[in-house]
Amino acid sequence: MNIESEYYLSICPECGIQFALPKKFVEQLEKTHRDFYCPNGHSLHFPAETKEEKLQKLLAQEEERKQYFIRKSQRLEQEKKRAENQRNGYKGMLARVKKQNESLHS
Ligand SMILES: [Zn+2]
Repeated sequence: MNIESEYYLSICPECGIQFALPKKFVEQLEKTHRDFYCPNGHSLHFPAETKEEKLQKLLAQEEERKQYFIRKSQRLEQEKKRAENQRNGYKGMLARVKKQNESLHS
């Protein structure tokens, strides 16, 4: 059995004792951030996010940013349409007024 591939060597930051933990167990601890104990009974945990968690967070942020820009461009598109409608409305009004004037003067 290859011990190095099965166990993770940990050092307690409180007392400095070295102890081995099964890698599967360590992977679980990294994911859950649950407390575990050194052989001297010091409470330890993995406070840091795992690489996977960090990447997932980054991905989620990236996705959010993408959604933001999509929404923004949709809003701009709507505003453009509204401005066009308004301009068309004014054009129509102008045409009507012109016609009225023409009929008044003819
Ligand atoms: Zn300790």
